Amino acid sequence: MIEELIKSAAAEDDDAIERLCVIADADPGRLTPYLGSLLDVDVLWPAKLYRAADADVVRRVIERIDGGRTPDCLNQLRVILAQTAHPLAESAMRRWSTQPPAGADELYVNALSYALEGGWTADPDGSRRDLCGSIAYRWVMREIPRRADGRICPWCASPLWIAADLDTADPDVGAALAHTGWSGRLVIETCHFCACYTTLYSQVTSAGATTWWAGNTRPSYLGSSEPKDPPALAPVLGPARPSPYQASAWNRGGSTLGGRPEWIQDAEHADCPGCGQPLDYVGLIGGADLDDYGEGAYYLHLHQPCGFAAVNYQQS
Ligand SMILES: [Zn+2]
Ligand SMILES: [Zn+2]
Repeated sequence: MIEELIKSAAAEDDDAIERLCVIADADPGRLTPYLGSLLDVDVLWPAKLYRAADADVVRRVIERIDGGRTPDCLNQLRVILAQTAHPLAESAMRRWSTQPPAGADELYVNALSYALEGGWTADPDGSRRDLCGSIAYRWVMREIPRRADGRICPWCASPLWIAADLDTADPDVGAALAHTGWSGRLVIETCHFCACYTTLYSQVTSAGATTWWAGNTRPSYLGSSEPKDPPALAPVLGPARPSPYQASAWNRGGSTLGGRPEWIQDAEHADCPGCGQPLDYVGLIGGADLDDYGEGAYYLHLHQPCGFAAVNYQQS
């Protein structure tokens, strides 16, 4: 079946590509034996198809970049390497960060920054960090009373929205947040409206305290508007997802704690105001789960060592 899908994908059959993506999300290892054929027929996108690539395929992609014969594909090939997160890919990316491959001057992006597309970060000092977890749970929306504690957005005066209220005392929450090092209660509060325009940071403690970060910078294009009520909904833990790759930023029921984000645009792992490193990824809340006409997705992030949380938003 996978061979047939690859043949159809080579003929630009979108349905076949979509079906391959479903396999890559549910059980990426099933594609591993076929990825050489996929590369042969030059299906390079979506790069996540290659997330379980083995050393042979990774080596071929690296050789193709080093060979410099297909500069038009350089961007896609690099995102493929990032998705594999393979040690060979990492070492090639480190090498290119000081010796760019042929044709790379066209791309004004550092080779190592591509790692973010694959959910990890490679510091020039040699350290490497996975920004995402390997365990994911569906997030189900539950109605909550409108808050009356007067905590409002300093920019638009709308009541702040509690995007997550988690406690690692629940072993499932602990598993979903294991990669962050967080222990205790975690409340991530943001402005449902202003987060659509810029990354909003908050300072958080393991006692569940949350404070708007005074360094948040209001975009100059953000006008004034009447305060509005955020959705009276909060995510609660649902069943475990079979794989960490099944969050959906588009579909109802796609909101997910832990695992890997589905980005609508390029990966946007916000940098921590405390240390300048990318924050760890916590989860996503799809607009479709908040509202019948909702779109876009809110992405939640955390850097435990610095006590910063962040929420950003993407839409098509
Ligand atoms: Zn606001
Ligand atoms: Zn930090």
